[in-house]
Amino acid sequence: MFDKSTWIRLPRNVVVGHGVLSQTTDAIAELHLGGHPLLVTSPTAREMAGDRVVEAFAADGAEPSVVVVEEASFAAVERVIETARAEDSGFLIGVGGGKPIDIAKMASHSLEMGFVSVPTAASHDGIVSGRGSVPEGDTRHSVAAEPPLAVVADTEIIANAPWELMTAGCADIISNYTAVRDWQLAHRLQNVEYSEYAGALSRMTAEMLVDNADSIKKGLEESAWVVVKALVSSGVAMSIADSSRPASGAEHLFSHQLDRIAPGAALHGHQVGVGSILTEYLHSGADGRWKNIRDALAGLGAPTTADELGIDEGAVIEALTTAHEIRDRYTILSNGMNEAAAREVATVTGVI
Ligand SMILES: [Zn+2]
Repeated sequence: MFDKSTWIRLPRNVVVGHGVLSQTTDAIAELHLGGHPLLVTSPTAREMAGDRVVEAFAADGAEPSVVVVEEASFAAVERVIETARAEDSGFLIGVGGGKPIDIAKMASHSLEMGFVSVPTAASHDGIVSGRGSVPEGDTRHSVAAEPPLAVVADTEIIANAPWELMTAGCADIISNYTAVRDWQLAHRLQNVEYSEYAGALSRMTAEMLVDNADSIKKGLEESAWVVVKALVSSGVAMSIADSSRPASGAEHLFSHQLDRIAPGAALHGHQVGVGSILTEYLHSGADGRWKNIRDALAGLGAPTTADELGIDEGAVIEALTTAHEIRDRYTILSNGMNEAAAREVATVTGVI
């Protein structure tokens, strides 16, 4: 008997391009959401974009509320939830880099309200995905969140964000290569459900980014265009899979461990990029495919070594040998690595 069923939750309006911030209210009006908006933003993002969105809503007669968050925390999520209730908000808009968007989408999830993503930087694939992540104590929790109903990505604003955020976004996409390999491995060894469609889309997204690496240069607005489109397509792959599997494998577990061992040392995307070099080596060994990942990262100016991440050798070895302790998903690291093997892979790939 055929008894499969699936939900694919995709953004309805994806608006990308030069100056599109001014189309935010139109993109939202088209969703027929009721009530007043609540904007979640950070001090910098508010200046870059948040205030303009508030003014546009006010001009249309809506009465937007604003919560400014300084850091990603469960307390901040709680504050947004309380404000939304107190102000009787109808839907949430996250305006910013990673943090305000993560917080807004987690708050939307518990409020059961619509959420719109207005990224001011292209630093990771969370700008379009239905997963949120906040640090708590010495770990980082990835939790269910509301996928955006609309994404408004103004390439003029994103191109002006700090360059390292862009290279981090690129590295997060390049890491899809190894995420898909881990997913296929889990399918073969653990019968984890695998979607050919989502896997192919995710891998193709990484390939397109690598193929277009020449057009990704500091100061070029076209770079923001290429990277945002890739982040959107990576998010779509996750929606199709109804899982973060297409974009998150052992390289992400490696990065989660680094968050614990060396908190705040490097950006998420940069950590998973280096993680991808290591886990691609573990998947394909001497055939040298790990070099393609390393060269792509190096070409973009993203870190490829522990030094460039600002962490020491010991942190790399510890992250590799403890990644299996995160029992979140089956990956190439799930059976554990001993220290000698971890040192070998990190040395051969030039990470340490
Ligand atoms: Zn990621």
